[in-house]
Amino acid sequence: MRNTEALLALFAEHRVQATWFVLGEVAEAFPGVVRAIAAAGHELGVHGFHHHRLFQLTPAAFRASIQRAKAVVEQAAGQRVLGHRAVAFSLSASTWWAVEILVDLGFEYDSSVFPFRGTQYGLPRAPLTPYRVDTAQGSLTEVPLPVLDFGPLRLPCGGGVSATLSAVVHAMGDPEP
Ligand SMILES: [Zn+2]
Repeated sequence: MRNTEALLALFAEHRVQATWFVLGEVAEAFPGVVRAIAAAGHELGVHGFHHHRLFQLTPAAFRASIQRAKAVVEQAAGQRVLGHRAVAFSLSASTWWAVEILVDLGFEYDSSVFPFRGTQYGLPRAPLTPYRVDTAQGSLTEVPLPVLDFGPLRLPCGGGVSATLSAVVHAMGDPEP
């Protein structure tokens, strides 16, 4: 895992602390990598067990996958996992049921919502700053992905080139704010 070593060195050089959302299957195959990330002072989060988008899973399958991933990452990292990032930012209106499951599994925050209009993902009217989400199981904090807000046009600026392009195409073709 030379890429991870290179990133850890770069972060150490610039004294940057990050949250690493890792897949359960990766943590299971390479627990030493997760241990090294934690030992360098970073936070570990969960990114699913396999790389499945939420809408590919039933709620029961999502629960089982996240529970297993959380246990594997916590075991490898030796720290409690508090955060989740959905694969491909696939937490949107149709997969919102996932939030209650995350709360029930002990997650304190989620960072999966891209507050813009994407073709594959996005919640175009969601807040741009962290907010509480209440469910029947309790609440968690949603930490949205960064977007640049130009009034009617919101562009993602935290990754996702195709997302940016689709946002531009949508903004040009759809006058709805
Ligand atoms: Zn991913």
